[in-house]
Amino acid sequence: MSATSTKATKTSKKATGEKKSTSTAKKTSPVKEVTSIEEKLDALYNLQKIDSEIDRIRIIRGELPIEVEDLEDEIAGLETRTGKIQSEIDEITEDISNRKLASKESEAAILKYKERQNNVRNNREYESLSKEIEFQELEIKLNEKRTKEGKVKIENKKELLTEATERLELKKADLETKKAELDSIISATQKDENKLLKASKEAKKNIEERLVLAYDRLRNNSKNGLAVVELIYGNKQRSGHRDASCGGCFNKIPPQRELDIVTKKKIIICEHCGKILIPSQEESED
Ligand SMILES: [Zn+2]
Repeated sequence: MSATSTKATKTSKKATGEKKSTSTAKKTSPVKEVTSIEEKLDALYNLQKIDSEIDRIRIIRGELPIEVEDLEDEIAGLETRTGKIQSEIDEITEDISNRKLASKESEAAILKYKERQNNVRNNREYESLSKEIEFQELEIKLNEKRTKEGKVKIENKKELLTEATERLELKKADLETKKAELDSIISATQKDENKLLKASKEAKKNIEERLVLAYDRLRNNSKNGLAVVELIYGNKQRSGHRDASCGGCFNKIPPQRELDIVTKKKIIICEHCGKILIPSQEESED
């Protein structure tokens, strides 16, 4: 809680509005010094705005690579798919060439059986050879049928493969563009971030160390990086009164504390979340 007296603020404020007084001994330092509570609060709020912008940039930059990751996943999926189709085509092609060989063997066997049929001793032997021949002929026919079917399958699969390959090429080109985009965005946001980091450092120089330490601690302990929060107001009641709450934890602020916050006479922290409270920036405009 604040230990600073409110009197100091009043006098320093008056001094700035006064004409040059007769006292020349009391010179105000030309170096910009934050002295009044109001100025301290304004400086803290300014620092918070800079730091929040840094947070925002970091979040955006953190989300960008997800798009690239999604594309990489899609490409990997398409590569698996084209690989699978290709191996299916290879399998059928191998089956067709095996069948070609098998048919040749069957033809050779048929020739042999036919030769043997010329030298048989009895009908039974002839019939038996005829059956063998018939069997081999059926084998050849089956091979022809399967080969025809296989060729149709290959044609269909080749079409699918062409489609998938075209898609894959497109996605790969997409990825290249996205990656380049990402790189430039990253370097651009890095520049912005560096500027803001510098500004943040500068802003801290104008605030007393004790306050900067408290501010940093609050920011580090907060998920959203907020150390300075505005008052927020509820709906107008019949009496015209509007309840004020902490913009950090949304707990109600008692009227007396609200007054202290609004008048910027003290540095008030929220009793519940410990954040530094400043007047609502919307309210203060009217
Ligand atoms: Zn709070």
